[in-house]
This record gives sequence, structure tokens and C-alpha cells, in this order.
Amino acid sequence: MAVEERKTNGPGPGGAGPAADVPVIAVGGGGFGGSYAIKELLRRKGKRRFRIVLFEPRSRFVFTPLLHEVATAGLEAEHATVPYTALFSPDEVEHRSEAVTAIDAAEQAVVTPNGKVHYDYLVLATGATTNFYGNDSARQLALTLKDDADAHRIRFALEQALLDAAQRRSPEEQRSLLSVVVVGGGPTGVELVAEIAQFLRYRIRKQYPMIVREAPRVTLVQAAPEILPGFSARFRKAALRGLERLGIEVKAGLTVRNVLKSGIVCEDAQKETVSLRSSLTVWAAGIAPAKVPLSSDTGGQRCYVTAADLSVSGLPCAFALGDAAMYDPALNLPRTPALAQAAVQQAAVVAENVLATMDGKKMRTFTFRSRGTLVSLGQRNAVGELSTPFGTLFLNGFFAWWLWRTVYLFKFLDAKQQARSAAAWTARLFTRRSAAVPAETMDMQENDEGRNGTKRTSKRKGKKVS
Ligand SMILES: Cc1cc2nc3c(=O)[nH]c(=O)nc-3n(C[C@H](O)[C@H](O)[C@H](O)COP(=O)(O)OP(=O)(O)OC[C@H]3O[C@@H](n4cnc5c(N)ncnc54)[C@H](O)[C@@H]3O)c2cc1C
Repeated sequence: MAVEERKTNGPGPGGAGPAADVPVIAVGGGGFGGSYAIKELLRRKGKRRFRIVLFEPRSRFVFTPLLHEVATAGLEAEHATVPYTALFSPDEVEHRSEAVTAIDAAEQAVVTPNGKVHYDYLVLATGATTNFYGNDSARQLALTLKDDADAHRIRFALEQALLDAAQRRSPEEQRSLLSVVVVGGGPTGVELVAEIAQFLRYRIRKQYPMIVREAPRVTLVQAAPEILPGFSARFRKAALRGLERLGIEVKAGLTVRNVLKSGIVCEDAQKETVSLRSSLTVWAAGIAPAKVPLSSDTGGQRCYVTAADLSVSGLPCAFALGDAAMYDPALNLPRTPALAQAAVQQAAVVAENVLATMDGKKMRTFTFRSRGTLVSLGQRNAVGELSTPFGTLFLNGFFAWWLWRTVYLFKFLDAKQQARSAAAWTARLFTRRSAAVPAETMDMQENDEGRNGTKRTSKRKGKKVS
């Protein structure tokens, strides 16, 4: 496969003169790591000349921390996504909507299904996919929450379950149709389950008086003995209390062995089988790095292995960050958490180090500094711990939730999206949630019969599991 001759193709973006003189910075993945690295590169560009080529199959940047609100009609997808065309000027960044399939170190080329593209500098930020831990039934039947399309699927499944339940007279049948299980007691699972519980109750109160108010049975299943492992005891306790106040059943210490169309089969610590009814199962139980193969790989590396300056071991002029990157274990450095705030911090260092390499200067090492964590517990409630110069500040309740929203508002890359989301949030302070079922989710449903919570919810009665 010939390397595409990008260096002789005429003027490069940005009126940079003949492209032959201009180094190419290829970026694989336009999520938090990739997009923020590009923003930083552009911000620090100065008089340097380079072209940036972004390889990203999606057409839009997805602001993942808000997806649970999109899944439950708290926000529309346009508030949690920004098209790359709005984020980057085509003069500055060439977006190629293709996935990187491999990196050819010898030719210094990005490999895509359409050929090879030469790079001078490479930034790898391909993120993570859902980890089903080898559970094929979960892969086939559970919904996931990784992007706005996933959020729409969950939202449609919830709306459909409500429509189906409204047609049943028996509270038992309504309960069966409105049994929802979220698997995974990390921040994503906790935030999502809280929104789902509130969403169902809100919709029943406002739109479905024929459904008994107690019908929804929303359960959070967690394999570890407690939810939010790694958080302080106070944080975990406050989050648990918040979930219980929303009527959510929290079942910790259960490992999901099988996902069925009508429920899940788990194993507890004593290896006893526990079955739970579920008309909709959402899998938020873990992530796996979405690393692409590098020709420099020496074994079965699951992540991009980096030095302390985030340069990829064995791959010259290449850097990696985000969920798919980790330090070389031989360095004995603390693990960087798989968080947007870590990817954003890494992005600044990667941008600086790409430019330092270009200028022949010394590179900076990366150290993650936690700013703290905020976990929302539905609308108007959150729990958080913030790092301050005076120690950790614990927050709980409405103020924590307000802060949670404000922090995210300031993290948006695009000013227009910032304004749109601020307006939507302000409106939601009064209306709480959108009442409309998005038309495109209906269309999606027509074409998507495979997963849990799709057509089968209206066509089949739940098989009694427990
Ligand atoms: C529902 C949800 C909620 C979250 N909430 C929070 C939160 O509240 N706070 C927080 O700090 N973190 C949160 N996270 C974690 C956060 O989203 C990630 O840690 C962060 O996005 C990692 O950045 P990244 O650039 O590595 O990956 P991503 O942001 O996921 O970006 C990876 C990009 O690479 C693209 N890609 C994948 N493979 C290829 C390929 N082969 N070629 C080209 N492109 C490719 C993908 O399409 C994607 O756009 C959440 C995650 C999820 C899923």
C-alpha cells in the first residue's frame, strides 16, 4: 500500500504555502484527548507552520459526561455534541471521517481502510470501548452508553416501556415492563440509574396517570461489595443515600453471568444464583482501551505504552493519551485515571511536547492532578469532593449539582454549544425534562431489533425471572 503523497498536494490548510514544507500532525481520535490536543496545538502554534489531520469516524465531538441526561430527556443530543465542522476551521484542521486501523512505524504512516497517510508527528487518542468481560449475552442484549446514538437508544427504550406499560391494566404487568437494571456501580452507572429513576417517575406523574406510581423498579447491580469503589466512605455513603431516596434498589456484590431478554442472572459472593427481572438492561460496567495495532508493538499490548512525557515507547515522534494510554509499568508511576479531566490535562502536555519535538527542545513530563470528582444523583442533587489548597472539600445536595453543571459548562470546547446548553439547562430548571420522543429514535428503532429494550418490549411479555 503506497503512502499517500500529502506533501506534494499543493497548498496546505491555513494558507500555509506549499504543503511540501509543512509537517503533518496526525491525530487519531477526536474525543477529549484528541480534540483538546488540537485546540492546544492551535493555541500555541505561533509562527510555526504545520497541518493537522484528524482521523475520526464520528462527525461530532461527544461530551460524554452529559450523555446520561440525553438518555433521559434532560438534554437533547445537540447539547452534548458538537460537529467537528463547528469546532475546527477546515483551514486549520482536515477532518477525515475514517478510522485508523494501524500505525506503520517504518513508513511513518497512519493506516486507514482507504490507504496510508504520512505523518511527521502522531497523536493517538482512540479512547475506549465498552468492556463486557467476555459476557456475550451482555454484548448482544444490553444497551450501552458511549455516545449520543447509545443515549438515544436508551431514551427510546424507556419511552417505549412507558407506552407499553400504559396499555396494561395490571400493576404487576406494568411493573414487569418498567423493570430496569443498570449494571456497573461506577460514576457512569450511578449517574445514569439516578436519572432513569427520576425520568420514569416524572413521566408517569405528568403523562401516564394510568400507570401506578410505584410501578418502576430500577436496580443498580454492582460486582464489587460497594458502589463507587475508590471513592471515600463519606462519598459512597452520600451517593447510596441519594440513590435510595430515589427508590433505586442497590444490589452490590452481584456478578452478572447472563443477560436475558427478560432479566439478568447473577452470582453472589457465596456463588449462589440470583435472578432479577429486567425489561431493559444497561451495561455500564467497564471499559476496554480502543488501541490500534502499532507496527512497533512487541507483544499483545492492550494500551499505548508511554514514557512519562507521553511519548509512545518504540514509536518516534508519536504521543498517546486518554483512556487508551498508560505509562510503561517499568516506570512505576501512579496510574492515570480514565477520566475526561485526565485526558484534557494530558492534551496540554502532548501539544506542548509535539511542539517541543518540532523545535528540538526538551519535553515536559505529565503528572495528573485531580481537581476532584462530582457525581450527579439525578436533577438537583449531586455529591462531590473537590481538591482545594486547604484540603478536600466535601459537597452534597443542590449546590454540588449546580457546581457540577457549571464546571461542565466551562469545559465545552465551543462557545455556541456553551450558550445552547446553558439556555437548555436554565429552561429545564422550570420544565425539568423534554416531553417529546425524538423522531429519529423512532426511526432508529425500526432498524434496530437486536438489543435489549428495543422492539421486543412491545412485542413480548417479560418471562418471569424473579
Ligand atoms: C457515559 C460516560 C460518562 C462519563 N462521565 C465522565 C465524567 O463525568 N467525568 C470524567 O472526567 N470522565 C467521564 N467519562 C470518561 C471520559 O469520557 C473519558 O475518560 C474520556 O473521554 C477519555 O478521552 P479519550 O480522548 O481517551 O477518549 P474519547 O473521548 O472516548 O475519544 C476517543 C475518540 O476516538 C475515536 N476513535 C476510536 N477508535 C478510533 C480509531 N481506530 N480511529 C480513529 N478514531 C477512533 C472515537 O470515535 C472517539 O471519538 C465518561 C465516559 C462515559 C462513556
